[in-house]
Amino acid sequence: MKLWEHQVRLKTDISNLFKRKKKRVVMCSPTGSGKTVTFSAMTLEAINNNFVTIILTDRHELLDQSSNTLVRYNLDPFIISRGVKDHRIPSRPCYVATTQTLAKRPQFLQRLSRSKQLMIIADEAHKTVHDKVLLREELAHAYVIGATATPKRTGRMLEMTEIYDDIVFGPSVSDLITEGKLAPAITYGAKTDLSNLEIKRGEFTAQSQYAALNKPSLYLDVVHKYQSYAAGSKAVVYCIDVSHTAQTLASFRSNGISSEMITGDTPKAERQRIIDGHKKGLFPVLVNCDVLTAGYDDPSIETIIVNRCTTSISLWLQMCGRGSRICDGKHHFTIIDMGGNADRLGLWEQDRSWSLTHKNKSKEEVGVAPTKMCPKCERITAAGASKCFGCGYMFPKEETKIVDAEFEVKGFDSSKAPETYNFKELEAWARYQSIKAKERNPDKRAPSWLSYVIRILHKRGGKKQLQDFAVSKGYKSPKIWTDKQLQVRGLN
Ligand SMILES: [Zn+2]
Repeated sequence: MKLWEHQVRLKTDISNLFKRKKKRVVMCSPTGSGKTVTFSAMTLEAINNNFVTIILTDRHELLDQSSNTLVRYNLDPFIISRGVKDHRIPSRPCYVATTQTLAKRPQFLQRLSRSKQLMIIADEAHKTVHDKVLLREELAHAYVIGATATPKRTGRMLEMTEIYDDIVFGPSVSDLITEGKLAPAITYGAKTDLSNLEIKRGEFTAQSQYAALNKPSLYLDVVHKYQSYAAGSKAVVYCIDVSHTAQTLASFRSNGISSEMITGDTPKAERQRIIDGHKKGLFPVLVNCDVLTAGYDDPSIETIIVNRCTTSISLWLQMCGRGSRICDGKHHFTIIDMGGNADRLGLWEQDRSWSLTHKNKSKEEVGVAPTKMCPKCERITAAGASKCFGCGYMFPKEETKIVDAEFEVKGFDSSKAPETYNFKELEAWARYQSIKAKERNPDKRAPSWLSYVIRILHKRGGKKQLQDFAVSKGYKSPKIWTDKQLQVRGLN
């Protein structure tokens, strides 16, 4: 199977870290970048070098998906599922297991620990469920690859640095869009009153979300938005809980839109029947709560309606990402955000920087680019845009002025060459260039301000300059950040 260029690069980067005795590496790459294929190729290589390899997932639904990809590589993994007794597990070079099941197979873990050459691949590595297994002393000698699109943890969760030594980065979402490997998104927002949301254990409580969204006007609005922005398209709707799902479904149906719903309570066979029906295009709208997440893959989805709120960047990107697969005749996909998520967590396609620590507090620190909503068509754009790309609405000068003022008045002297600017001037200049590029060509994706900065800094003094810049910005891991920036731009 031929790998994409970025997949080959990821593989090489991980091998290089392994050679430098960094045995536990996070492979960070967006949904849709082919992580499973990348780690399957690494599994094949490891087995050819006499390694025993085990792939861990956090959900039973993902067992089949992982093992199917391995089978395409002519690997024949043994699947350790719930029914398999400990002493019945045969000796094989390759296993697939859910972490929860593996943790309950102590005899097998003992046997596994005796393999001198051992490689563990943890899928969805940001999930804490893997920690217990990965931190077992008898597995300390194993090489570990932690695959994830969002290496982010919060609150009291164990920091990723407690488990992993380093991180490698795949392409960004915007790179994948540019390369035609993911579909671009058009995002619409809503004027939902979210002032009374409550957070418990890091996430908005279902009760407070329900109180905010359980309103007749909003049930109607969600249907109205679907009809205005994505009429007839194949859509998936994410709701808060069973009751909210049922009422959202009722609203679609009473407006004459053929739709079905699934929740965690839907019997398995029924669930599959509905998902298959939606895949085949028998009805356009599928409403769900907490079912269609990781592992659910239908490239023909054209619209994602997020009819809920979340504080979780993983969940937000995962929901949006379900619409991003490319498919014949699909030029873009539509995101309808009813829960203020784009404002809170940034647009799905925005560039993000990740680190293995999670002491981040403010929006700036987690790198959320500010957004604003067009008052006419509700399309969400970057805060600096002076014109709505959707309807052409010109934002009043006041709104853009704050952004403009910063650069216009300026923070940089336009008579000097950008190569001579200090970091602050350079950033102001770069932001100005990015906004101007967007204005000149509103239909095209303008280069981000960061890409201007990096081009100049790299020319001026390579890696060192970039690291100094990252330090001046207070980024958590200047070295990791620098490597990633150089890597994704092919400058190293
Ligand atoms: Zn507009």
